[in-house]
Amino acid sequence: ELFYRQLPKVELHAHLNGSVSVRTIDRLIGRKPHLNIQHSMTAIGKGQRRTLDECFQVFKVIHQLVDTEEDILMVSADHVIREFAADSVKYLELRSTPREEKNTGLTKKGYIETVIRAIQLCKDEGLDIDVRFLVAIDRRNGTQVAMETVALAEQFLLSSDGLVVGLDLSGDPTVGNGKALLPALERAKNCGLKMSLHLSEVQSQLEETDLLLNLPPNRIGHGTFLHPEVGGSQNLVDKVLKNSIPLELCLTSNVKGQTVPSYSQHHFKYWYQLGHPSVICTDDKGVFSTDLSQEYQLAASTFGLSHAAMWKLSQQAIDCIFAPETVKQQLRQKWTDLQPQLF
Ligand code: 5GP
Repeated sequence: ELFYRQLPKVELHAHLNGSVSVRTIDRLIGRKPHLNIQHSMTAIGKGQRRTLDECFQVFKVIHQLVDTEEDILMVSADHVIREFAADSVKYLELRSTPREEKNTGLTKKGYIETVIRAIQLCKDEGLDIDVRFLVAIDRRNGTQVAMETVALAEQFLLSSDGLVVGLDLSGDPTVGNGKALLPALERAKNCGLKMSLHLSEVQSQLEETDLLLNLPPNRIGHGTFLHPEVGGSQNLVDKVLKNSIPLELCLTSNVKGQTVPSYSQHHFKYWYQLGHPSVICTDDKGVFSTDLSQEYQLAASTFGLSHAAMWKLSQQAIDCIFAPETVKQQLRQKWTDLQPQLF
């Protein structure tokens, strides 16, 4: 629907390598035919579902295809950022796990520098989208790597002209433990990195979630099992409410990844009814074959929300961004300028 395509939007939860579209994967496969990779291994089509575990296998395949600075630059600058911009996303926080690849000489520092270069290229070109970067910690890699990642993010927080704004904690929620990562996250907090943490994505994370909520994080990714109806607790919900921690909610991702049984049972409903800041996001638009317009439209049709309500939702997402107040003001002005074209 045109309304959702034209609606100015804020995307706060997008993993770089999960956002690579089928078209771009084609290009990458063409460049690396020896890997013998098929499309069915990288994207989950309409109506298809995978277990969360299978979703994480998909990322491994994409990582094989994106393993040089050249790949990262091409994927980010020529495709992912451009596609978000074409979908009327006006502000984007991309997140990605810096990877070292011994075979190609890719370093973690070079990885981050390349994403920053891609963002800068799009900016210089005058693309109508403000892009920032969150450095991701993959939880399965443990304490030491988390600490090193925070140190790297800290360097870039000071040297990237405001492009690196924070930190993400992601990776397979069934592996690793949050408690071991706490010192790294505390350090991140102390040096002024904003934090978005994947929390309660699966049901078994109650204790860890409770612990990490005490930081508290600046935003929560998914938070699928926070509320009592699905095995969370009122205590967890109260902590989220008390600190007014915005949630990043990804409908298609959760249904296709089977952590949520159906769209109508998505926890968007619970938090939206409470009037709690909830931001609709894509998670992995390539892997889950979606885009942000589709996610807005899906939320509207599933929960019976009007265009006016969806406008308000996209506008309120501005309050949740990690970039400074001046950027929020610019975005609010942009929304005000665009409103007459949509209503
Ligand atoms: P990258 O960090 O390589 O740009 O993007 C892919 C990575 O993002 C995955 O390897 C995984 O660590 C993380 N990721 C992507 N989608 C999800 C998700 O739905 N849940 C969690 N916990 N991590 C994810």
